[in-house]
Amino acid sequence: MFDVAIIGSGIVGAATAYELSRYDLNVVVLERENDVALGATKANSAVIHAGYDPSPGTLMAKLDVESVALTKELCEKLDVPHKQCGAMVLALSDDEVKTVEFLHNQALINGVKDTHILSKAEVLRLEPNVSQDVAAALHAPTAMIVDPWEYTLALAETAVRNGVEFRFDTDVTDIKPTEQGYKITANATETVDTRIVINAAGLYADDIHNMVAEPDFKISPAKGEYWLLDKSEGTRVNSVLFQCPSKSGKGVLVTPTVHGNLLVGPGNIPAGDKDDVSTTADELKYVKETAKRSVPCIDFSTVIRSFSGNRANTEHNDFVIREAAPGFIDLAGIKSPGLSSAPAIAKMAVQMMSDGGIIFSEKDSFVDSRSRIRFSELSADEKAKLIESDPLYGRVICRCETVTEGEIRDALLSPIPPRSIDAVKRRTNAGMGRCQSGFCGPRVLEILARHYGIERVDVLQDKAGTFVLTSKTKEFVVTNGS
Ligand SMILES: Cc1cc2nc3c(=O)[nH]c(=O)nc-3n(C[C@H](O)[C@H](O)[C@H](O)COP(=O)(O)OP(=O)(O)OC[C@H]3O[C@@H](n4cnc5c(N)ncnc54)[C@H](O)[C@@H]3O)c2cc1C
Repeated sequence: MFDVAIIGSGIVGAATAYELSRYDLNVVVLERENDVALGATKANSAVIHAGYDPSPGTLMAKLDVESVALTKELCEKLDVPHKQCGAMVLALSDDEVKTVEFLHNQALINGVKDTHILSKAEVLRLEPNVSQDVAAALHAPTAMIVDPWEYTLALAETAVRNGVEFRFDTDVTDIKPTEQGYKITANATETVDTRIVINAAGLYADDIHNMVAEPDFKISPAKGEYWLLDKSEGTRVNSVLFQCPSKSGKGVLVTPTVHGNLLVGPGNIPAGDKDDVSTTADELKYVKETAKRSVPCIDFSTVIRSFSGNRANTEHNDFVIREAAPGFIDLAGIKSPGLSSAPAIAKMAVQMMSDGGIIFSEKDSFVDSRSRIRFSELSADEKAKLIESDPLYGRVICRCETVTEGEIRDALLSPIPPRSIDAVKRRTNAGMGRCQSGFCGPRVLEILARHYGIERVDVLQDKAGTFVLTSKTKEFVVTNGS
């Protein structure tokens, strides 16, 4: 019998698992995919919003603002790539200055620190590549950019180190109340007994809710498409540049990434279905043209990838966080700023459990740190010493990002080891560079096959079923002397 079962290991499930791992509780995370952060947490703008955007009085405003300092502290403690580069909302016409003033006022009401309005000259001094049409901007210096994958992984790994169990490939299909709590059925036949259920199932949180309580919200996925540009464009802007928000959301932004690339997007259109993360030429064209209003000189010939993610929009203009049935807590409708708000969402869930009578006793042995070797960031001396201590750090697997076999081996021995080529990429950056794994992909495939003792044809690119090789192309019969 578990004390708590969390359904979903996106940023919200992982943050909740991390928060609960401080206490003497038996916690399990059930995730239908083969890794953490494969839902909305995988494909977003990676911005930790300062908190001026959500309407005052909403949970989104409260939890976002509370989370800004918490996120920074977590990233520092758990070795998550992050940068407090600040954000601007650009007024690209005199009319839009009113929106910027409105947002500044909203920032003050929401308790966002240090926001102010910049003049045209001040914007252009900080961001020389912004359009000459800019009339003013709201500046929010507390906004950050992060690596959302590694952020989620770091929280999940720390939870595992503190005793939380993660079960992957575990698709929750039914939940029934019992005398002591709930019986969860996964993959149609496996069962898990638990006192408390936390619904952190992202785009599927309505389906999970409906297994236990009357339907009262519906998730309508809204897709956002992106361009990712090469590092040669990575210094085109210094901060996250938003346009003025409209009815369809925060609009198209231009931002540096923590890995030194430039990210442009997202649009906002209804998704075909919750799992539809395709991109279309029309929407990407819209994103490109819209972004050029902010930064006309972006060189789109340096694009290395396009992708999309789906927002978990509901009919409520807020997160849906509440105890929907005794011992069943929804952390649902977590659209943007969900990545930003995750630490405070997790703390709120723990508070709700405590209010509901769960007794929390803190562990004496809570491990609250994490670090990993990033070979490319070391000095020449440090690299030499490392290679001397372990020659696997001298074998470069990804040339674009200078990722070594030693780092991939470390990931394979970590608390949540990668099980696909893309999972290695998310942990080590192998394959994130200009050639997009053209060089290192086959080498990573070999390493995975060797590590797991499986055939190369059984190695996955990413999610279940994404086999890279479909069959052997050559068979050899080895006979004596030939
Ligand atoms: C285009 C876009 C841009 C965004 N930009 C930002 C931004 O810059 N800043 C920001 O703060 N927020 C942003 N967001 C929002 C942010 O990405 C989300 O709020 C956040 O990732 C939601 O996390 P989650 O854990 O709730 O959901 P998810 O990451 O979707 O995780 C839910 C998990 O539940 C699992 N699951 C679902 N059903 C089941 C089941 N039946 N059994 C087991 N497991 C199940 C899924 O596989 C998934 O892993 C953006 C979102 C999008 C789409």
